[in-house]
Amino acid sequence: MSSWRDTTCGALRASDAGKRVTVAGWADTRRDHGGLVFVDLRDYSGKVQLVINPERAPAAAERAHEIRNEFVLQAVGEITPRSPEAVNPNLPTGDIEIQVDELTIVSRSDPLPFQIGDDVDEVLRLTYRWLDMRSDRMQRNLRLRHTVIQAIRRVMDELAFIDVWTPSMTKGTPEGARDFLVPVRLQPGRFFALAQSPQLFKQLCMVGGLDRYYQIATCWRDEDLRADRQFEFRQLDLEMSFIDREDVLDVLERCVVASFESLGREAPPTPFERVTYAEVMRKYGTDKPDRRFGLEIQDATELTRGSTFGVFAGAPVVRYLVAPRAFSRTELVRLEEIAKEWGAKGLAYLVNDGGDVRSPIAKFLSEDELAKLAPVPGSTALFAAADEATVSRVLGGLRTHLGNELDLADPQRNEFLWTIDFPLFEQDEESGRWTFVHHPFTAPMPGVEGSFEADPGSALSQHYDLIWNGWELGSGSIRIHRAEVQQAVFRVMGLDEAAQREKFGFLLDALRMGAPPHGGFAMGIDRFVALMAGEPDIRQVIAFPKVSSGSDPLTGAPTSMSNRVLKELGIKSLIDPDSIAGP
Ligand code: ASP
Repeated sequence: MSSWRDTTCGALRASDAGKRVTVAGWADTRRDHGGLVFVDLRDYSGKVQLVINPERAPAAAERAHEIRNEFVLQAVGEITPRSPEAVNPNLPTGDIEIQVDELTIVSRSDPLPFQIGDDVDEVLRLTYRWLDMRSDRMQRNLRLRHTVIQAIRRVMDELAFIDVWTPSMTKGTPEGARDFLVPVRLQPGRFFALAQSPQLFKQLCMVGGLDRYYQIATCWRDEDLRADRQFEFRQLDLEMSFIDREDVLDVLERCVVASFESLGREAPPTPFERVTYAEVMRKYGTDKPDRRFGLEIQDATELTRGSTFGVFAGAPVVRYLVAPRAFSRTELVRLEEIAKEWGAKGLAYLVNDGGDVRSPIAKFLSEDELAKLAPVPGSTALFAAADEATVSRVLGGLRTHLGNELDLADPQRNEFLWTIDFPLFEQDEESGRWTFVHHPFTAPMPGVEGSFEADPGSALSQHYDLIWNGWELGSGSIRIHRAEVQQAVFRVMGLDEAAQREKFGFLLDALRMGAPPHGGFAMGIDRFVALMAGEPDIRQVIAFPKVSSGSDPLTGAPTSMSNRVLKELGIKSLIDPDSIAGP
């Protein structure tokens, strides 16, 4: 037992009455009645009321007048039941108080820039993160994070995964983002990339016979920061040998269930539904649908083939959504703007506000079309007519927007989903080049190994994503374990033999020396925990996150470097250090 305390504040109960204890913590609130001073003393476990009575402890009472919020105190005293009218039913320790005999002011506090727990500007919270951390919200979130990670580690351990550390400073790892680079003083002009993920190392662990690898790995990606993105984040990264897709999905489902249970919550039923990429795109227009609400995309392509409305008749695909609201003109103008942001040329609609169907296109539609497409009273059908990808993007974007705008999602529901059977490649619209959908190490579907090179656009892959309420929790795949197949993928991506060697020679060598079949997954811990904590963004579950400009308001990083430091690294900056303003 430490000399500073022999109990935490929040642990005390009526059954402790009569005990003499030493407690320590922060002065949460203080009520000075001139004679008696009451202090709510707080530590991570909760609060307890101290009563400092000049008749009982004159020296302590003298000192108590100096106490201000967030002073660190240590008190020795006796636990006594509160008088019935003073009981606070809202506080777990509300039946008792501590009659103080000795009081020490351990540490003082300057006046605070904000009161602990106040809903203030986030930059202010992050500038003084150590104060913000004392709030119930941050204490709850960081502890919840710990609990969830421990539960996941237990599952990993039970399933015989071993925790292996892989390098952060490495060669570029293609996960589709930009790399953060690290200059190397000993080799001027050369750079490490910070690992976007441990992808290739975990595969090499499989070639190395480790069989089951995992790591709560830090990953670095130079991308714009968003609610669910930081430059650096952590993922449950895992890889397994001699397995099929279902084995990997099962491990992840166990982690999710164990995480819910570790928090005393009812776990979602498993197995989670597996839906093909083609189907989610058709129904929801996105590969990460929020299925807490319906609003499924419907198809009108067949129906409108011979339409006298040329826009429909001429479009490769015509699909629509029926929103449960008869939108006004102004609302429709706004929705059209959103549809255009997603690539639509315009937005055709049929509104039924209880009377006639309101629509500039109604007069072009046949009776049959109208009978089938006109929405029920109080709703609006919104159409997209274009190529399939555009239609999905537009209606997917509108669906997500309407889900938020009309508050369609039931907050009590948890909808987990596996999206499976992704395409192997996608074509860059501008350059026409083929690029991977997941990463280049993802295996094609069995059966297309021999044909995908000739027809990359139609090959499916063994890539899968885990989705929770519209958030992508993570991705994984069965990997390529044969060098010839890997080389064919590289060729489709336009890498000739020399480029393959230069970038991925070590991988090809490994695949040629007894690589077992393997696959794995990575789940974003920050996203998972944020959703578990009911938080709207991952910054709330990260101890020291960065703000959207990419800065850390607490330390002021990133900062400029003097030319002397840069020179040592062999770097000449195009930016004058003096021209760089503070954060
Ligand atoms: N390396 C991938 C990622 O970070 C996950 C995986 O395929 O295991 O998204």
